Amino acid sequence: MGAVNTFRLLMQARRNQWLKPSELEELQAKRLRAMIKHAYDNTEFYRRKFKDAGIRPEDIRTVDDLKKVPYTTKNELRKNSTGSMIAKGLDLKKCLVTETSGSTGIPTKIVYDPSANDFSKAINLRSYIENGLTLTSKWAIFGDPRHFQKPKWFQKFGIFSPQWISAFDPIEKQLEFFQEFKPDILGGYTSSTLMLAQAIKERGITDITPKAVIGTSELLDPCTREYIDSVFNVRMIDHFGCVELNRTAWECSEHAGYHIDVDAIVMEFISDGEAAAPDERGEIVYTGLYNYAMPLIRYKIEDVGIPSDDVCPCKRGLPLMKLIEGRSDSFMQAPDGRIFSPIIWTLVMRQIPGVGQFKAIQERKDLIRILVVRDQAFTEATAGQIVHDVQEVMGKEMRVDVELVEEIPKDKSGKVRCAVSKVAILQ
Ligand SMILES: [Zn+2]
Repeated sequence: MGAVNTFRLLMQARRNQWLKPSELEELQAKRLRAMIKHAYDNTEFYRRKFKDAGIRPEDIRTVDDLKKVPYTTKNELRKNSTGSMIAKGLDLKKCLVTETSGSTGIPTKIVYDPSANDFSKAINLRSYIENGLTLTSKWAIFGDPRHFQKPKWFQKFGIFSPQWISAFDPIEKQLEFFQEFKPDILGGYTSSTLMLAQAIKERGITDITPKAVIGTSELLDPCTREYIDSVFNVRMIDHFGCVELNRTAWECSEHAGYHIDVDAIVMEFISDGEAAAPDERGEIVYTGLYNYAMPLIRYKIEDVGIPSDDVCPCKRGLPLMKLIEGRSDSFMQAPDGRIFSPIIWTLVMRQIPGVGQFKAIQERKDLIRILVVRDQAFTEATAGQIVHDVQEVMGKEMRVDVELVEEIPKDKSGKVRCAVSKVAILQ
């Protein structure tokens, strides 16, 4: 257990990435069968779900068979995360318990047993190492202090040991830390990295020069990516994942898409109840392959992705997915039915002089609130122009309320998101 186990799993994971796609499919199906059997035998929740659907574990042999299993929703997870979804006989005291901050404000607990935690670390380290992390790199990660993990013994000696920075810390404190620490690898929330980049550029700071910048947990729109790349003089690497299943896909240095960690999870893309075709957008449905403490089978994460059958020039066997759009709760729908991806906010708002930071919140189908932090170019006409420009894109039916604020509030996990909708559009 622990460090030795993580290293062994890391070596295995690094070998896996070069397997042929057919070999990876076989490995994935084998892990899937074991997980399905375990979930059926050891959790009340999945035993009931399987029985209600009239299926037995033997019916699920391959990823393709998974479609027979009904989805697990976020609501089901919320209701059962400390009860019927936990495997029998688990010693919760030995487990790592993380809480997700749902948009409803009701936290959901995610439980990892020690071996699942080792496995997840190994999978996570794989992409960092492939993108430049070495045994002695100075590695800093922006995150939510409530999720910071206690260092393991080997990390106390500076091996694969990230220095966590709270996304909630004021920028002055962050700058002071980075100028002292001088990270080689900078990771974590993209919105925090963006704000750091802005501060570095504004102040003409020259001594924070990471060799690699690895973003995670948030949509990386092309404007943000370009900005961060230009300030740090790197090509930023993006990671994709969620609190429930940790990192699930990542970019290699070819930037041809995101390699899916198929030895750790099954990622399905569903469009109108069917598997989405390559290059077609689909809702992401996950099955975890290693967390035996709390199995998640066909879990609807309420996020969107695009499966791809492209082969990456790096020749890794891990398949690719694409991510041109944000989380489904960043999408907004106009009263006339048109759906807008979050990129429109960057496009519309960046054109308007006087807008520093902003956040658009769709409260109702016909009401968007826009929080705006003024910059020097702000005039009395700015608010009017915002309303005008947004209505030009989304239609006059959309009421647009502009509210001036001193700063954009971070969400519960410390991230700053420029677009959030409280209106579900992907049902
Ligand atoms: Zn690649």
